[in-house]
Amino acid sequence: MDYIKKGMMYVMNTYKRYPVVLERGSGVLVYDTQGREYLDFTSGIAVNNLGHCHPAVVEAIKNQCEKLLHCSNLYWYAPQIELAKLLVENSFGDKVFFCNSGAEANEAAIKLARKYSKKKYGEHKYGIIAASQSFHGRTMGALSATGQPKYHSGFGPLVEGFKHVPFNNFEALKSAVDENTCAIMLEPVQGEGGVYEADQDYLKKVRELCDEKGLLLIFDEIQTGMGRTGKLFAYQHYDVEPDIMTLAKGIAGGLPLGAVVATGNASSGFEPGDHASTFGGNPVSCAAGIAVMKELLNGVVENAEKVGNYLKSRLLELNKSHPSVADVRGKGLMLGIQMAAQDVGPIISKALEKGLLLVAAGNGVVRMLPPLNITIDDAKKAVSIFEEVLTEFEREKQKT
Ligand SMILES: *Cc1c(COP(=O)(O)O)cnc(C)c1O
Repeated sequence: MDYIKKGMMYVMNTYKRYPVVLERGSGVLVYDTQGREYLDFTSGIAVNNLGHCHPAVVEAIKNQCEKLLHCSNLYWYAPQIELAKLLVENSFGDKVFFCNSGAEANEAAIKLARKYSKKKYGEHKYGIIAASQSFHGRTMGALSATGQPKYHSGFGPLVEGFKHVPFNNFEALKSAVDENTCAIMLEPVQGEGGVYEADQDYLKKVRELCDEKGLLLIFDEIQTGMGRTGKLFAYQHYDVEPDIMTLAKGIAGGLPLGAVVATGNASSGFEPGDHASTFGGNPVSCAAGIAVMKELLNGVVENAEKVGNYLKSRLLELNKSHPSVADVRGKGLMLGIQMAAQDVGPIISKALEKGLLLVAAGNGVVRMLPPLNITIDDAKKAVSIFEEVLTEFEREKQKT
């Protein structure tokens, strides 16, 4: 029986998958079971930031596998400590909590913000303000923080205490703050919601508001972090530091790992017993994470900025020459192409047929999230395929 039939029979029906079975990958290239080659501009949704099976990551995993796979957080182990040190030394943060995924990192951040604020100001401090069109994950807390009703539908009651306000509208945010508010949670560049960048002035004012009202600022950098936007963390573009930052996706080069990075002050909200994760900060994932950090710090982040600028400029040219493209947004190698059409399914399917993997976002947005170590030449190839796709799409549209 073929894999796709078998998959539909045995795997729960939660994803709309493309009819392709991927088997192996190397760098920006990935191959299906028929031996077809694809230029992977999804990176497993911003996870494979060094491409498929980066040798340094594979080597780190192999070495760690022979020493210790898992040993619980009842004990110390070196890879977790070393990765925490690297994250702290290269960010605003002082302390790190490790978990396994983005949603879990946000759950931990929400719990930390509440615990800190309740201890400091009293039981009434639990409110969290997030943005419309945001995406923070699928577990109940993270889902409640997510500002997209389509993801809430059928799962209520949600966790209490969350409010949503329009992104980049400071007055709306300010008016939403009340005596219960303890934190503001934002993505510096909204990813899944459609690649919308925060305005410089907005984040500056949000930071000032948090300082004035004693609120914690949480940046969800699960997608924007780990070099994706051309800086190690997106907050560095804005010169606005959060109190708490969540990471996952690209942090361990393809293995599951999540992290909460916080200032010493915010971290003091947690004491032993307050929060935990059996697998959190697993030695193998952390060993991979160390290898990723070393590569990122050794030129890959700068490359993401350079190739990202090139790719964005080429996409902006397509915006001028192709009526189907309405806008191009994003930073570094986190780029969103706003199409005039709402349904980008046909465009993504066409690109796939031509050997380019892309991912949808928000309303009518095609996302390009290639590995951060791609070359200008890889970007050129992707633009050339994408232009063919646009030309065909526009020609077919004219016919109908
Ligand atoms: C992907 C993502 C999440 C959720 O991460 P999971 O690992 O899928 O739970 C949360 N926030 C942002 C910004 C994301 O892009």
